[in-house]
Amino acid sequence: MRPSIMHSRGEPRRDPTEHWWAVLPGAVLLAYALGLVAVPGVPVWLTAVAAVAPLGLLVWGYLKRPAGSAFGELTIVEALSLVASAFVISRWLGVQGLEGFGLVLLALTAVLVLSSTFVALGAVGAIVSTEALSQMLQTAAPTQVGLTWTGLEGVDVGMLATRLSMVAAFALLAWLVVGREAARKRKARDQELEREREKLLAEAREFRLIHAGRSDSPVTREQAEELILRDAVEAVHHTTFVTLELVQTALRAHTVVLLWFDLRNEKLRIKELISESDDLVEGTIDPAGGVLGGISRRREVVRLSSLRPGFRGLAYYRTLPGITEFVGVPIIEQGHLRGILCVDRCENLPFTEREVQIVEDSASYILRGVENERMVASIERTRFEVGRFFEASRRLNSVLTPEEVYKVALESVREICDVDFGAVTLYDAQEDRHEVVYVDGDGAKSRRDSWEKFAFDSNQGLVSMVIRNRHYLPVGGRLRDRRATVLTEEEDFSGLPSLLVLPLIVQDQVVGTLVVGHSERDRFPAQRREMLEVIANQVAVTVQNARLYAQMETMAKYDALTNLPNRRSFTERLQQTMARHRRNGRTFGLVLTDIDHFKNVNDTYGHPVGDEVLRQVGRLFREELREVDLPARYGGEEFVMILEDTDLEGARQVANRLREAVARLCFQTEKGPLQCTISMGIALGPWDSDEPHTLVDLADQALYYSKENGRNQVSVYREVVASSSAA
Ligand code: GH3
Ligand code: MG
Ligand code: MG
Repeated sequence: MRPSIMHSRGEPRRDPTEHWWAVLPGAVLLAYALGLVAVPGVPVWLTAVAAVAPLGLLVWGYLKRPAGSAFGELTIVEALSLVASAFVISRWLGVQGLEGFGLVLLALTAVLVLSSTFVALGAVGAIVSTEALSQMLQTAAPTQVGLTWTGLEGVDVGMLATRLSMVAAFALLAWLVVGREAARKRKARDQELEREREKLLAEAREFRLIHAGRSDSPVTREQAEELILRDAVEAVHHTTFVTLELVQTALRAHTVVLLWFDLRNEKLRIKELISESDDLVEGTIDPAGGVLGGISRRREVVRLSSLRPGFRGLAYYRTLPGITEFVGVPIIEQGHLRGILCVDRCENLPFTEREVQIVEDSASYILRGVENERMVASIERTRFEVGRFFEASRRLNSVLTPEEVYKVALESVREICDVDFGAVTLYDAQEDRHEVVYVDGDGAKSRRDSWEKFAFDSNQGLVSMVIRNRHYLPVGGRLRDRRATVLTEEEDFSGLPSLLVLPLIVQDQVVGTLVVGHSERDRFPAQRREMLEVIANQVAVTVQNARLYAQMETMAKYDALTNLPNRRSFTERLQQTMARHRRNGRTFGLVLTDIDHFKNVNDTYGHPVGDEVLRQVGRLFREELREVDLPARYGGEEFVMILEDTDLEGARQVANRLREAVARLCFQTEKGPLQCTISMGIALGPWDSDEPHTLVDLADQALYYSKENGRNQVSVYREVVASSSAA
């Protein structure tokens, strides 16, 4: 990994999780305040530990700091350690009859000089509160172990005030004298780093490694961009320097200098230099004057020989070192003059044809170096973008539900470019209707009060047109007509001069659109449009997959003929219902239903009619039951119902009502009208059984009883058992 230049500033030097080490100096300060250390009667070794342990922590912290980091800021742990040690030692000195409070002030000074304001305030706070607490506990000037709580009355106001004002005076003094200086240095260091960074970017632009004004990309892109450019600039400098060295050696030159134009092609500046003279121009050079002016205008190699001593035509010198020979070669890239390579010497030894050729070759070698690096930078950039792409598509591939897809889709778009408005619409080809299934971004609320279930018929708006044309609109990603309709005429998109509606196409089918917009102009240039198209394709596939997945889920739960839940869903639901009723102590009805002589229906009227009967009976069950009840197709011409919170009489009533309703159904067939009856069996859970399988079995027994006793009737398991045992 290369180090990131962005990261070298403003980052904490050490791991913040280490803050909990503050417990150690904190404990020592508390022990001090409680009169447990450095008082007569306490073993000397305990006092020594209390004094040395924080110092150990301080040293350890310093040893642990990353190699190469400057002697600089103390962390809060280190500052407190210093203060804690100072307190302990100062009182120990006090007990020995010496004045020790100066040590605390010394520690404070060190903290103020070496720490940030925050840490310094923390240290001052710790000193003041420790001092105040030990005064209240009468441990400040101790004569023995132990403490007496005297509260505020025990405070030696005079001593406390003296000490606190000493702390304050020291803090102020140290801050004035040293702290400010340290802060100034820190600021200067930051500014220096910032300047270096700016310089790097400026140079990269001058070498045309980047196009000016790419600042619209998100931060992380910029970071990547900087890394790429730093490498490129270094490589160009290296190539150039080595080339100039070679030229100087080979041609025994006095000066070999590469002059380079600034971004606006107005001024020349020394970009790289090897010279025996140290009196060259530092700032910019006017390219119009003297020899350089000639080269710039004519864009031709200029060779001068036997120059007179006072010749002032070489603008890169401040004072002339007696140059007699000069060669200047223009560096031209695709018709643009980028710079001038100048070589001179003082020996009255004219440059030969061959030497001039060497200078020309070197100039084109330098140019090629720049071009190469530009290419490398561009490859690096692409690699970075492809990486983001890959990441986006990987994420898109791993989502399953449609809602996730839309969200992740817009997140992926944001990986590529910033957007103020993003939406996904789905197209229903049968209804020729669009539904906005997802909106996001700051621009969403201002365009429409509510996007909830917002759907609209096809119109002359961009979304509808994109669906028809299967190509993104508007051309160039620019919304030229500010009043143009995007979705319907109601929403105002005039605040989004950059707009793109991309079709979501999968296997030649347009499933919807991806709408993205930005409040600034020209946010979707060709390169980004291409990337967004790729994302749109990916979204289309993922939307399609999500739809298929949803379909499969429905198929797994519902019966295709009647659209009622299938046996699997019923079994799941029965288990839940059983568990719930076991808890609440109430009962529910389980009703098993079988159509009477259904085989005859199929045989007489044909299978399609049989199917229609099943559909209609199923629909009737769904319509007649409460929302909380569950009718399901159990298999063949058998249905099953769960009647929530229902007792025996209630279940019987419902069953009979359904039975009569089915009997009233009349089907018109080619062979005349057809009517059916059903037989039903009821068991009551968890009353008859609290085991789902058994309960179904009992309901089946009741159903069998209905069939045996003439069909078109309802039987209840309890009664069936009672009557058969009576018989
Ligand atoms: P009963 O129940 O009154 O004793 O007589 P039944 O004629 O209904 O007897 P049984 O339960 O044995 O017959 C069930 C018939 O239902 C057999 C089968 O052809 C028919 N069937 C099952 N599933 C379907 C279906 O999906 N569509 C059609 N049309 N018929 C089905
Ligand atoms: Mg049957
Ligand atoms: Mg039957």
